[in-house]
Amino acid sequence: MADAGRRHDVVVVGAGLSGLVAATRLRQAGADVAVVEAGSEVGGRTRSRTLAGRTVDVGGELVGRDYTRLSGIVAALGLRLEPAAPPMPHLRWDERARPPLRPSTASGLMAAAARLHHLCSLLPPQAPWHAPLADRLDALSLEDWLTRAPVDERTARLVGAAAQAFTTAPPHGLSLLAFLQWLKPAGGLSALWRETPWRIRGGAQQVARRLAARLGDRVVCASPVHAIEQNGAEVAVHTEDGAVRRARRAAVCTPLAATGSIAFTLGLPTAQRGLLDQVHSPAVTKLLAASADIPRRGVLAAGDAIMPLAMADDHHAVGLAYGADTALPTPRLRDHLTAVLGLDGSALASEAIAQAWHEEPYIGGGYPAFAPGQLTRHGPALRAGHDRVHFAGADRSTWPGTMEGAVRDGERVAAEIRTRLGA
Ligand SMILES: Cc1cc2nc3c(=O)[nH]c(=O)nc-3n(C[C@H](O)[C@H](O)[C@H](O)COP(=O)(O)OP(=O)(O)OC[C@H]3O[C@@H](n4cnc5c(N)ncnc54)[C@H](O)[C@@H]3O)c2cc1C
Repeated sequence: MADAGRRHDVVVVGAGLSGLVAATRLRQAGADVAVVEAGSEVGGRTRSRTLAGRTVDVGGELVGRDYTRLSGIVAALGLRLEPAAPPMPHLRWDERARPPLRPSTASGLMAAAARLHHLCSLLPPQAPWHAPLADRLDALSLEDWLTRAPVDERTARLVGAAAQAFTTAPPHGLSLLAFLQWLKPAGGLSALWRETPWRIRGGAQQVARRLAARLGDRVVCASPVHAIEQNGAEVAVHTEDGAVRRARRAAVCTPLAATGSIAFTLGLPTAQRGLLDQVHSPAVTKLLAASADIPRRGVLAAGDAIMPLAMADDHHAVGLAYGADTALPTPRLRDHLTAVLGLDGSALASEAIAQAWHEEPYIGGGYPAFAPGQLTRHGPALRAGHDRVHFAGADRSTWPGTMEGAVRDGERVAAEIRTRLGA
């Protein structure tokens, strides 16, 4: 048994951005911290790989201008942001090589964006499920709302494709309230559209790698946690290699889709159990294909049910594929990406990476998609702890599905634990 005689202040489960930020903040406050990670490397849903000689991100990549907490950490670690190429305002919406947007669709998009923005303004940022209109907004799917809103079919399709790209859920399976919760911190649809996003030069995974390097041997990889025991004055975190780490508190910073496989010997409150059992994280594959010669670069294309959105820049093409069909072999997905972008067969080189996040046993999907009715029912459990066990992560944050959310929620849980430890 590792650490048999020693008791840490905090054991953090998961070395994604949220867990590493929580551990860093606790360490800075003088706490004795251990981090246990199931995978063989740190970073979780930020992962950088090499494609045709360039670093690419197969998970989290784009950094919004309002990602203030992440940007601060990036700078403190000596990393740099660079514009994601090409800048969004220069992208052209396109639907499978059809003509660009008609003016009626463009004005329909702006009208839909304004209506959504107004609805966002009615939501309290910390707890949208407490808004006066929450029950009504949560009862509708985004598709229900688009059907009733005075927008044409093409506008509805574009908003639906964008929503699926952002949230992983198809418009009929996504609660309107959950979509608004996602849009609110981003400043609404039109702000997203206007802003030029950034990426982290050299890849987003460097943030996790550098945070872990500073924590040194406090971070242990390839150690999946299978049980968390709470007994009187402490928690005992059991890993599959038979080790037990004891601590005053535990911070569980794992994806919602992977948390249910940990056995909590005290059991979990019904509300937390319901959240873990009923809210699903859809299958998502991020596909990146190197460019042989992309004639239509700078195009953001609305695709189909498998790949609702794809884009091409100077170096490669990127598409997010959802649902069961993401099990297609990589060359077939690459052909699909070629078709969605309206390219001819030779535009993309054969080098491609398909990262299927739902196939990762300790990730389990892209990120949670709240179906109609689920956010008002399960939202209050997102950031609720259970005795000495605290929960955190992007999936539970006020910036869901983003790296900024992971950082903010890591900081939130560190502050919560510091208060309880009296540190
Ligand atoms: C395809 C895709 C594209 C994205 N694009 C963007 C983007 O452009 N911009 C953006 O801001 N965000 C993006 N995101 C979202 C962003 O990457 C995530 O929200 C964020 O990285 C999640 O951080 P986290 O720490 O909450 O969770 P994770 O990064 O998932 O970390 C959780 C860690 O817990 C570990 N773990 C799980 N179970 C156990 C266990 N039993 N024992 C020990 N360890 C365990 C996992 O292995 C993992 O390392 C994207 C995500 C995906 C999937």
